[in-house]
Amino acid sequence: MGRLDPDFSGETVVVTGGSSGIGRAVALAFGDAGAMVVNADVRAESKDPDASRPTHEAIREAGGEAEYADCDVSDPAEVEALVDHAREYGGVDVMVNNAGVYTKTRFRDVTPEEFDDVYGVNARGAFFGTQYAANDMIARGVDGVVVNTSSDTQGRAAWDHSHYAATKGAIRMITRSAALELAPEGVRVNAVAPGPVATEIRKGWAEEAEEMQPEGETPGLPHRAAEPEELAGAYLYLASEDASYVTGETVWVDGGGHVA
Ligand code: NAD
Repeated sequence: MGRLDPDFSGETVVVTGGSSGIGRAVALAFGDAGAMVVNADVRAESKDPDASRPTHEAIREAGGEAEYADCDVSDPAEVEALVDHAREYGGVDVMVNNAGVYTKTRFRDVTPEEFDDVYGVNARGAFFGTQYAANDMIARGVDGVVVNTSSDTQGRAAWDHSHYAATKGAIRMITRSAALELAPEGVRVNAVAPGPVATEIRKGWAEEAEEMQPEGETPGLPHRAAEPEELAGAYLYLASEDASYVTGETVWVDGGGHVA
């Protein structure tokens, strides 16, 4: 099979949660494609056991441009400061709202505090990440793009996921609603819905994934977890000129998990 050869040179791409997992793979791919990458996370060090250096250092070492910016996306003031900061590099052209947290808790046991913590990072982070980036793009007269990280749980119920799934369902509608209002302004907003991906966040539900295809039962999808690198292409496509007529869409990258 062939490969695409994306070119984002001259563009500034902000990736939240870019230190680890999917965000790291996306940041590295944008860096490889020539973008100036700002990795916005609460920790520069990667959670990935096989990552020998922080994302921005890995991009620079490969000949690209990148920096780390400390940012807690659950605080809208920090997200606004992040978008302002990106003006040092000409302003954000592509905003990837990817940072996310997960806790495994039965519906009956979720506390208001736990709900707010998970919702604050996943949903509020994506909402204001989209809003501030879009306002800045419009102010600068740039046809920018936002790509949000949703999840297969945006449309599929799963045990112990209710509060997390609520945040991902919210991201689906943040993406669609923002796309509707921002299309006339030239800003596209899309989402990627990963299925199970082999990252640190997933450790909590790994056993559940093991049970995805119980022996002796009709085989279902997905038959394996993805590597983070297998997600990156969807983000680059949605952020690219090749997707110029695609907005409000969620691209499922889930090994077919949602088709059943
Ligand atoms: P991960 O834990 O490997 O990476 C998440 C990154 O987000 C980390 O670097 C972490 O430090 C950062 N982060 C956490 N809270 C933050 C905050 N408040 N502000 C800024 N950064 C913060 O997880 P991942 O699997 O790479 O997850 C990335 C996204 O993909 C999340 O939105 C997650 O919900 C989503 N997702 C993951 C899977 C999966 O199976 N791994 C499936 C569907 C969706």
